[in-house]
Amino acid sequence: MIVTQRFIPRYERVLFGEDPAVGYRGIIAIHSTVRGPACGGTRFWAYSSQEEALQDVLRLARGMTYKNALAGLPLGGGKSVIIGDNKSKFREKIFRLHGRFVHLLQGQYNTCEDVGTSPADMEYVLQETPYVRGLQGRSGDPSPRTAQGVFRAMQASARHRWGTDSLKGKRIAIQGCGHVGYHLAEALHRAGARLLVADVDPEKAERAVCAFGAAFVSEEEIYSVEADVFAPCALGGILNDQTIPRLKAEIVCGCANNQLLEPRHGDLLHERGILYAPDYAANAGGIINGCCIEILGWDVQATIEKVDGIYNTLLQIFEMARHDGIPTWKAANRLAEQQVT
Ligand code: NAD
Repeated sequence: MIVTQRFIPRYERVLFGEDPAVGYRGIIAIHSTVRGPACGGTRFWAYSSQEEALQDVLRLARGMTYKNALAGLPLGGGKSVIIGDNKSKFREKIFRLHGRFVHLLQGQYNTCEDVGTSPADMEYVLQETPYVRGLQGRSGDPSPRTAQGVFRAMQASARHRWGTDSLKGKRIAIQGCGHVGYHLAEALHRAGARLLVADVDPEKAERAVCAFGAAFVSEEEIYSVEADVFAPCALGGILNDQTIPRLKAEIVCGCANNQLLEPRHGDLLHERGILYAPDYAANAGGIINGCCIEILGWDVQATIEKVDGIYNTLLQIFEMARHDGIPTWKAANRLAEQQVT
C-alpha cells in the first residue's frame, strides 16, 4: 500500500492510503489525541472525488473529538473513510487492507463501524490490527445503543420544548431507516409516537412500515411533512438553505453525524425557533457503549445508564443556550471545548 501524509492545520495527522491492485483508497484523519487515543468509525462511501472524501473525514474526525469529550470518555477524535461502492463483494481484501492501514498508527487511532460497514467487516480489520472496536462478542453492534441515546435526547428535547418527556401521539419524521433509524423507530413506536419514514432504499422504509405501522413518505417530502420532530438518521449536511425553510417540526433530533451543512445553519434553526439537539451530543450512545465495555471494562447495565446520561447532557446544553441566548450548537461546542483544552 502506498501511504502519504498531508499537513492540515488543526489536525494531528491525515494519512492517505492506496493500493491500486485491490482498488483500495482510504483516508485516516486524527483530529485530537488530547483526551486519549483517537476513536471513530470507518465510513465506506462512493465519494465523487478524493477531495469530497477528505472534507467528509475531516468534519467527522473533528466531530468525534467533540462527541467523545462531551460524553466524558477518555478518547480523542478521529475517523476514516474508504472510497468506493459499499456493496462491494471484495470485503475481505478491502477491510484487511484497511486494517493494515489502521495498524500503521499503532493505536493512535481506533476504528469501528460506520455508514456502509458492519461488525462482520470489522472482523476482517481485526485480522490485521487489534485497534478495532464494536466487535461481535465484545461490545457488538453500536446501533441499538446509539438509538437509545437519540431516544433519550428526544425526550430531553420534548421536556425542554413541551415540558414533558412523553412522546405519545407525537408525529416523528425519520429520515433513514438503517441500523440506527430502525431501532429508534422501534423505541418511538413503543413510546406511542406516530411515525413517518423515508429511505432511499425502499426495502428499509418498508420494514419500518410493516413492523411499526409507520407512514411511508418520499425522500423529498420528509423535510416538509406535518411533524412535531424531524429525526435525521441518514447522512450529514441535510440541514441547509434548501431544507430548513421547509421544516414544520419544532424539534430536530436524530443520529446522523454532521447534520448542519455549515454552522450558520444551526443559527438559522435557532432563528426559526426550531430546537436543535446537537448531533454529536445526541448520537454518542454507540461510542459510549464501545468505550465503556471494551476499554473501561464496564458491565452492560452500567453502560446503559451512562447512555441514559445523554438526557441530562442535552438538558444542560439547552439550558446554557437559553441562559446565554445562543443557538444550541454553540452551547454544545462550548461545553465540549471545556473538556478538550
Ligand atoms: P445505515 O447505513 O445503516 O443507515 C442509513 C440509512 O439511510 C440507509 O438505510 C440509507 O439507505 C438511508 N439513506 C441514505 N441517504 C438517504 C436520504 N437522502 N434519504 C433517506 N434515506 C437515506 O447507517 P446507520 O449506522 O444507521 O447510521 C446513520 C447515521 O447515524 C450516519 O450519519 C452515521 O454516521 C450516524 N451514526 C451512526 C452510529 C451507529 O451506531 N451506527 C453512531 C453515531 C452516528
